[in-house]
Amino acid sequence: MRRPLIAGNWKMNLNRSDAVALAKGLADASTPDEVDVLVCPSNVYLDAVSAAASGSKVALGAQDVYFESNGAFTGETSTDMLSDVGCSHVILGHSERRNVIGEPDELINKKLKATLAAGLTPVLCVGELLEEREAGKTMDVVTAQFDGSLAGVSEADVQKTVIAYEPVWAIGTGKTATPEQAQEVHADLRKLLAERYNQQTADTVRILYGGSVKPDNAAMLMSQPDIDGALVGGASLKVDSFTGIINASVPQAAPCSINKPRS
Ligand code: PEP
Repeated sequence: MRRPLIAGNWKMNLNRSDAVALAKGLADASTPDEVDVLVCPSNVYLDAVSAAASGSKVALGAQDVYFESNGAFTGETSTDMLSDVGCSHVILGHSERRNVIGEPDELINKKLKATLAAGLTPVLCVGELLEEREAGKTMDVVTAQFDGSLAGVSEADVQKTVIAYEPVWAIGTGKTATPEQAQEVHADLRKLLAERYNQQTADTVRILYGGSVKPDNAAMLMSQPDIDGALVGGASLKVDSFTGIINASVPQAAPCSINKPRS
């Protein structure tokens, strides 16, 4: 059984007081026990958000990391620094880093290995551009990103990795993949995990969907057999919309008021 994970990518949004208020609101919210919740604020506010969500089930992640452990790497942040402020997860290969900053798979692969070596959980994003989908190349693109980003990663380590399928044309655009479109790629990704590793690995790895997930489309997406949660941008910036997605991620969830401590 794969536990659902709902992850919020706050990107370069919010100021300190808004980030702290959002984290506190989520920490106090009633959400189902069986859903894992993750928020990924700007690095600048990791410490403050960590303190605000402390003692709750809300886990903390970063939006990126560098692969070297310390030294003369101006502007970068190491895995040790992220662990030090309470992070358990790191988003890697987000489409904005791939397509805006220009990160290649080789660099994402180094970051992913460093993340795993530090005992943090990578949330590896893959996904095609609109023109690639229209050219029928979705799985070619996603397979190349999968193979490049996970090159040399062991079965044990890939089982600790979360994959997020995020069609680039659906990110921040209000256009969501239909549940069938998303399920098709998720099933193909699971097949790829079985081919490159084995069936047990394919059955273990959580594959999230990302791309304009909102409270009103979350339940249909999450009801697909190979969709194990969501990576959420815009709708993760408000307590109501993010908790709406969390609550919609399990069928007829009975909200419970006692949040578990972060492990
Ligand atoms: C994202 O940033 O990963 C994302 C899916 O954004 P949005 O939900 O706003 O489309």
